Amino acid sequence: MGLRDVLIDELRDLYSAENQLIKALPKMAKGAKDPSLKASLSNHLQETKGQVLRLKQAFEILGKKATGEHCNGMEGLIEEGQDALEKDEEGATLDVCIIGAASRVEHYEIAGYTASIEIAKALGERDVVALLTETLNEELVASKTLQGAGKMLIKQSAADSKVNEDGDKKPKSAKEKTSDKKSKEDEKKAAPSIK
Ligand code: FE
Ligand code: ZN
Ligand code: FE
Repeated sequence: MGLRDVLIDELRDLYSAENQLIKALPKMAKGAKDPSLKASLSNHLQETKGQVLRLKQAFEILGKKATGEHCNGMEGLIEEGQDALEKDEEGATLDVCIIGAASRVEHYEIAGYTASIEIAKALGERDVVALLTETLNEELVASKTLQGAGKMLIKQSAADSKVNEDGDKKPKSAKEKTSDKKSKEDEKKAAPSIK
């Protein structure tokens, strides 16, 4: 397997990731409370549709088909986003959870596009580089926008939290219990190498 195949794999991963986001972003936008956060997420959904089309163009240039690889990383990030939406939080605090999840998505994409651009450059695929760079720039702006919204909403959440200092906690769901158990296993496995 050569570098060209690595590029194809990276791009297929991104293609799957972007397609998954087309289903997930509307849910995040719907869940967001702050109107400007809602608008940014909806705006990024529109951009994401364009990003899928750009990837299709890149595959056409490379003479390969776009499908072939499911992005497990994005599946996991989207699942965490869904968890954020289902958290027992409201208002600005819920928005802070959504922003945390959405930022992870953007950073994952930024890593994927940055790597793909470097590989495409090395292969002399200038048109592919141009397409991917356009998308990377959108991802960078989206990430910055989330960061800005986060700053404001964290302040707001901090102010709200003073009013309703930790309310009664709901009992843990089955999913939360599994997550709790697994996190303890993570800790236990890492412990011997940390001391
Ligand atoms: Fe994207
Ligand atoms: Zn992936
Ligand atoms: Fe994105």
